[in-house]
Amino acid sequence: MRLVHTRAEVREWSREQRGAGRPIGLVPTMGSLHVGHTSLVEIARRSAEAVVLSIFVNPLQFAPTEDFDRYPRDLEADLEKAAAAGVDLVFAPSVDEMYPQGRPWVVIVPEQGADVLCGRTRPGHFTGVLTVVSKLFSITTPDLAVFGLKDFQQLTLIRRMTSDLDHPVEIVPAPIVREADGLALSSRNRYLSQTERESALRLSASLRKCEELFESGERRAAVFRETMTEVGGGGVSLEYAEVVHPETLEHVDVVDHGTVCAVAARVGSTRLIDNHALGIGFN
Ligand code: AMP
Repeated sequence: MRLVHTRAEVREWSREQRGAGRPIGLVPTMGSLHVGHTSLVEIARRSAEAVVLSIFVNPLQFAPTEDFDRYPRDLEADLEKAAAAGVDLVFAPSVDEMYPQGRPWVVIVPEQGADVLCGRTRPGHFTGVLTVVSKLFSITTPDLAVFGLKDFQQLTLIRRMTSDLDHPVEIVPAPIVREADGLALSSRNRYLSQTERESALRLSASLRKCEELFESGERRAAVFRETMTEVGGGGVSLEYAEVVHPETLEHVDVVDHGTVCAVAARVGSTRLIDNHALGIGFN
C-alpha cells in the first residue's frame, strides 16, 4: 500500500491503473477508521482492482462552532487498518493541498434536499461535502465510489450531484455497520464516556422500535416520528426526528417499504446521527 499527500501523485497513480486496465474504486473518509469504513473498502474491492482511500478532515463541511479542531486524527493507526483492509493507495492531503486558493468555488445544493434533516440543522454542511467529493472525483477519476448509508442524506445528495454534473462515477451504497448492541459505528463514538455511550443507544433502540412498528403493520409517519422523539431526555438532546422518502427526501405522512426514519441528537457535547430504512429488518 502506498501513501501520498498530493493531487499530482494520485493523478499519476490513477493514470497507471487506467493504463493497466484496472478499474478504480474510491472510498472517501475523514479518517479515524473503524469497521464501518473498512466495510466500504471490501465493497469497493468487489468491483475495483485498484482501491484508493482518501483521508481528509474537510474544513469546508464544518461550521465554526463545530468540532473541526478536535475531530479525531490518527494517521498511523489508519494506515495499518487501510493496509489490512486491502487498500492500494491512501490519499491524505493537507488543507492547503485541497484548497490552495483559500475559499474555493463550491457545489451549491438545490433547495430540495438542503432544507431537511442535517441540511436544516447544519447550514452549508452539504455544500462542503459535495465540493470535496466533486474534487475527489476529479483527482482520483474513479469508476466507482462507495458511500455508507449511515450518512443517508449525504449519499442521496451525492447520487443527485453525480447525475446532474455528469460525473462518470458509479455510486455504490454500503449498509450501516453497528456494534452488537445496535450503536452505529462512528469516529465520533470515541468522544463518548461510558455513561454517554449507554445513552447513545437510545438512537438505535428507537429505530429498532420503528422497524418493529412497521412489521406489525403501522403506517402512520407521525407514530414513527413520535417513537424517535422519545430519544430525547436522559442526557440526550434531540436535534431532529424525521420520516422521509429515500430519494426525494420529502416528508411523508404514510410510510412504505424503504421509507427512512432518521434521527440526530446530542449526547453530552457529541452530535450523533442514525437512520433506518423500514422493511429491511434490524439487527
Ligand atoms: P466519515 O469518515 O465519517 O466521513 O465517513 C466516511 C464514509 O464511511 C462515509 O461514506 C460514511 O457514510 C461511511 N460510514 C461511516 N460510518 C459508517 C458505518 N457505521 N457503517 C457504514 N458506513 C459508515
